[in-house]
Amino acid sequence: MNWENFCEGIREIYEEIKDDVGGNLADYIPQLASADPNLFGISVTSLDGKVFNIGNTDTRFCIQSCSKPMIYAMILKEHGAEKVAQHIGREPSGKMFNSLDFNSENKPHNPLINAGAIMAASLVKPNERSDKRYDHIIKEWKRVLGSQEISFDNSVFLSERNTASRNYALSHLMMENGIFPNNSQIEDTLQLYFQSCSITMTTQELSKYAAILANSGKSLDDVECLIEPQIVKDVLCVMYSSGMYDYSGRWSYDIGIPAKSGVSGCIFAVIPNVCGISIFSPPLDNMGNSVK
Ligand code: GLU
Repeated sequence: MNWENFCEGIREIYEEIKDDVGGNLADYIPQLASADPNLFGISVTSLDGKVFNIGNTDTRFCIQSCSKPMIYAMILKEHGAEKVAQHIGREPSGKMFNSLDFNSENKPHNPLINAGAIMAASLVKPNERSDKRYDHIIKEWKRVLGSQEISFDNSVFLSERNTASRNYALSHLMMENGIFPNNSQIEDTLQLYFQSCSITMTTQELSKYAAILANSGKSLDDVECLIEPQIVKDVLCVMYSSGMYDYSGRWSYDIGIPAKSGVSGCIFAVIPNVCGISIFSPPLDNMGNSVK
């Protein structure tokens, strides 16, 4: 790939779409409805660590569902794929991300919809205290990204916790289905899930994460294995089939790369062996993906 030409192409796309005013802010989490709809940034990180930034690439935003691939990778490492599969499926759901719907074994369809991500949160260090479990997640982000800047938006966390009837409903259904690990507490599990959605970063950091996944989990200086290649493969598979909400099938068909979006208007996309891309622009289409 010619890096300069590639970046020039991204710059042209940015200029072409920057004045698009389509879409709406997510309003079911009140704090997200107060985001600035004009923010727009794109970062691209190459496998050898070159970074191209255009627009609001220093702005911190809560990563929302872009946290889900990381949590999935963490529980695959902690428990192994077989144990995780006892709690979470790996198929696209064909339903909305927060739908009250399970697979034929009464498990969540995959780890990237809300039910699966709540289940995944329950599997993060299940026997530790809640403060340690949150610490474990934020430290993992800092370790993988090699950055201490990763932060947390408490207002988003509180806003999300206060408007979570549907996520509580999903959790109670899964408790009744008997698929949570033993001794799981709904309240603790949901708090951890909301906390992981309220972690904040910039497009620069999120594109670096995408680049590390594109590099089979190796650091961008190729020295360290940050995430095991088998886990990267498992994460990219579910991102490819289920990462873009109800648009996932069309996305895979038309665009053809693993990606994940979040309702704050962020997306990260992985082009294996080439680069990682992250985009942030809050207005969403009716599937929940950033319009831009
Ligand atoms: N925290 C959000 C929720 O549970 C996640 C939404 C998303 O980004 O998909 O509704």
